[in-house]
Amino acid sequence: MSQSYQELLEKNEKYLWNPFTQMKEYLHDNPIIIERGQGVKLIDVRGNEYYDGNASVWLNVFGHNRKELNEAIQQQLEQIAHSTLLGMANVPSILLAERLVQLAPQSLHKVFYSDSGAEAVEIGLKMAFLYWKHRGRPEKQTFLSMKNAYHGDTVGAVSVGGISMFHQAFDRLLFPTEKVSYPYPYRFPGTVEECRESCLDELKQVLEEKSEQIAGLIVEPMVQGASGIIVMPDGFLSEVERLCRRYDVLLLVDEVATGFGRTGKMFACEHEGIQPDIMMVGKKLTGGYLPVAATLTSDEIYDAFYGDHAEGKTFFHGHSYTGNQLGCSVALANLELYERENVIEHVQEVSKSLAAWLKEFEQLSHVGDVRQLGLIVGIELVRDKERKEPYDFEEAIGVRVCRRAKELGLLTRPLDAVITLIPPLITTKKELREMLMILYQAISEVTEG
Ligand SMILES: *Cc1c(COP(=O)(O)O)cnc(C)c1O
Repeated sequence: MSQSYQELLEKNEKYLWNPFTQMKEYLHDNPIIIERGQGVKLIDVRGNEYYDGNASVWLNVFGHNRKELNEAIQQQLEQIAHSTLLGMANVPSILLAERLVQLAPQSLHKVFYSDSGAEAVEIGLKMAFLYWKHRGRPEKQTFLSMKNAYHGDTVGAVSVGGISMFHQAFDRLLFPTEKVSYPYPYRFPGTVEECRESCLDELKQVLEEKSEQIAGLIVEPMVQGASGIIVMPDGFLSEVERLCRRYDVLLLVDEVATGFGRTGKMFACEHEGIQPDIMMVGKKLTGGYLPVAATLTSDEIYDAFYGDHAEGKTFFHGHSYTGNQLGCSVALANLELYERENVIEHVQEVSKSLAAWLKEFEQLSHVGDVRQLGLIVGIELVRDKERKEPYDFEEAIGVRVCRRAKELGLLTRPLDAVITLIPPLITTKKELREMLMILYQAISEVTEG
């Protein structure tokens, strides 16, 4: 049964197209083929071990092959794997919805499932759009989103996205949206406060002119992830909420990356006590096991769709696997473990050590900025530190650093010239220290060597 690395590689080349991957380079770059995982490590078919330094693209919480989560799936499997949620329900999907509402900001009372973060975003956008229609304000049909935002790769999510490398090519496929700046203090010519105020002024101006047409504003709370781990200044998010209320625009918060403890709070909204109308979650909901995502809404939104069949307010949206029992069961077990193991306190505790250790990186001559909130880290590399001069895209500095880190036993992915570290939430201080030592060595060798 077992196939050699070489055989698998040939079949990868022959049959498989990997996501976000230039296949020509990948196939000639000694690619990793994972066989199994244990704790915070991944083990490939050749027997090499690596730290899972980006939590398998921001998903993993309790490490791999965790007994309680494996058992939750096995137990559910003996009942049933899947039945539809269209026009009927199942046990774990109801119980998980209850749990999510208990944990979420108080404004949110209803749960609509899907299979990925991008779908959760599509659903939120469609709900906001129809909400105004049902309320007799059909002219509110456009969205306000942030420059450099990332909300997933489906066409609606890309429409509210703003990362030119990923999104620009699809220009003609997208619906038009209004875009405002997300505060990026490192690249702002002024103080952090000036950066915040400048972005707020910009937002206010657009709302002043166009709020009559705007259904909702969508934002990545506290941290803009895929654009390079950009951390908002204090006070920005609560002011965004205030402006949304003032101009009667729905607030949609994309917690797909930040939700479930990544930033040191259960949800990033809690940092500023905001109460969104719609919230999307995905990554980490199942501990990184199975694809379940959800869009949470207020009663106000749910009620706008509530009526007799003939009123035509039914929300015609769903996916084949919406509310999948295996996924919901492992999500329930995952959230139970959060409580039992005090995951949020653990994140707060280790992220203090992390902050102290990250100071060492600031000494490196090509590290321009180090950003961190909880267990999400972005290290921005620059050619010239004094002038904050970026590396050229062609130099692929981030790719080269991560390639070296891989040789040293740590897997992570760059966001252009920003090196990320996004470990599983239960990573211990000792493991975290080892991951950082590898990153430090990789950055200094590649940028100074
Ligand atoms: C990853 C991500 C998404 C998309 O989630 P998928 O499950 O990959 O579709 C959406 N928003 C944010 C903020 C994300 O980080």
